[in-house]
Amino acid sequence: MAPVGANTEYDLVVVGGGSGGLAAAKEATALGAKVAVLDYVTPTPIGTKWGLGGTCVNVGCIPKKLMHQAALLGEAIHDAKTYGWELEPDNIHHSWESLKDAVQGHIKSVNWVTRVELRDKKVEYINGQGKFLDPYTITTQTKQGERRLTAKYFLIAVGGRPRYPDIPGALEYGITSDDIFSLSKPPGKTVIVGAGYIGLECAGFLRGLGYEATVLVRSIPLRGFDQQMANLIVAEMEDKGVKFEHRCIPKSVQKTDDGRLHVVWQNDKKEEFSDIFDTVLFAIGRRALTKELDIEKAGVEVAPDNEKIDAPNEQTNVPHIFAVGDVLYKKPELTPVAIHAGRLLARRLFGGSTTPMDYENVATTVFTPLEYGVVGLSEEKAIERYGEDNIEVYHAYYKPTEFFIPQKSIVHCYLKVVALREGDQKVLGMHFIGPQAGEVIQGFAAAMKCNLTVTALMSTVGIHPTIAEEFTRINITKRSGKDPNPASCCS
Ligand code: FAD
Repeated sequence: MAPVGANTEYDLVVVGGGSGGLAAAKEATALGAKVAVLDYVTPTPIGTKWGLGGTCVNVGCIPKKLMHQAALLGEAIHDAKTYGWELEPDNIHHSWESLKDAVQGHIKSVNWVTRVELRDKKVEYINGQGKFLDPYTITTQTKQGERRLTAKYFLIAVGGRPRYPDIPGALEYGITSDDIFSLSKPPGKTVIVGAGYIGLECAGFLRGLGYEATVLVRSIPLRGFDQQMANLIVAEMEDKGVKFEHRCIPKSVQKTDDGRLHVVWQNDKKEEFSDIFDTVLFAIGRRALTKELDIEKAGVEVAPDNEKIDAPNEQTNVPHIFAVGDVLYKKPELTPVAIHAGRLLARRLFGGSTTPMDYENVATTVFTPLEYGVVGLSEEKAIERYGEDNIEVYHAYYKPTEFFIPQKSIVHCYLKVVALREGDQKVLGMHFIGPQAGEVIQGFAAAMKCNLTVTALMSTVGIHPTIAEEFTRINITKRSGKDPNPASCCS
């Protein structure tokens, strides 16, 4: 066993070549450290596997956003006709195979660029699964045989993988987000089990591409998000044709004689229902990949409830072993969070920095057909933290100009600002449902970092006609009971 700092082969060994691990590795090498990154993907139960870069690039943010875009374009084609575009032939079809090939082509190119970048930056990339042998040694099997790596510091950036329910047929016939983006045949009629953001996003783009989509919701949609906004998202998806089965859990999946899938589910009154689907997609949550890492041999403790690592300042209970990204306990599971934390950690380890990662007020967007962008606290959380009497909530429905000509529904275009009630009213949370919600909320997230107040927001001159300007027009509080529906557009 090599003690810390004594003749170790590397300054840093990173286990996991995803968003967090790669960011840390590149930053550490730029600061002069000798770094190796191990990355290995265990194939899914139906055999899907992918290349270097982790979840975001291969089976997460990127393919998801591309498929969301494909669905939005389908909607835009219909809108285009109302704007005078004469589309022939009138009957427009979508090809799943073409979309899948285009998405996978893009992913392969990113895998390649990532490998080249690591080589150029002199980060050693090892395509192997890392396991701790002891607190100072990682072992891995490569094509060339077993390798043992010793390092001054280790970084656990192994991320997570989707869970499967413990029901008959789940593993044999079900798929997850790890499979959907490379599915060789069109998904057809799909049941999505789970109403977290991944479940809703998948249901949204599948419906947008023309497939029947049913979501089984166990308890509440978008747990952890503002529930008023979550329910508006569900209502909008229902209007777009997604079916929701509330308070239901799956019981079994069986193959029918004609190769389709017979799914049985149960509601909270123990009543059973069933239907035939072509695809069953489980989106019931993700588990951290700490067990596969033989983490106990390193002495690193994991949370008893979900195998994640509680690491204040990204440092585990073993001082020379660190962790970033989705593997962290009670931290946002988002790519920019993993990247930022990885980079800052490398600077602290090798650059003399003391800047810690700030996990507060991280903006995010749910890419459902009508998107939901958010930064800061939900209304529920703000009330829980500060008390109802100390919170002011401004809200408004609004009409995107682009929606008028195609006469698109505006009933769920809604935003709210959650603020402290006293003084200039410090903004605690901003919530926006509408097109391009991520683009809208990003700038406001920066404003919130600079301690945005409602007074400052109201004195900001908007850009007309945009949807982001609606935040500068807010003036109705929930407490006032006044109608938050929009008046005229330009006064
Ligand atoms: P990962 O990116 O998961 O990387 C971990 C890597 O380590 C993987 O390649 C894994 O195979 C490898 N590994 C695991 N164990 C070992 C081992 N023992 N040895 C070697 N290698 C190992 N985030 C956003 O910000 N925006 C989005 O829109 C968004 N959309 C998403 C959509 C979906 C469908 C999913 C699933 C996720 C999405 N995310 C999104 C979340 C985002 O992908 C993750 O937060 C991010 O990838 C986490 O990075 P990470 O470095 O912690 O882990």
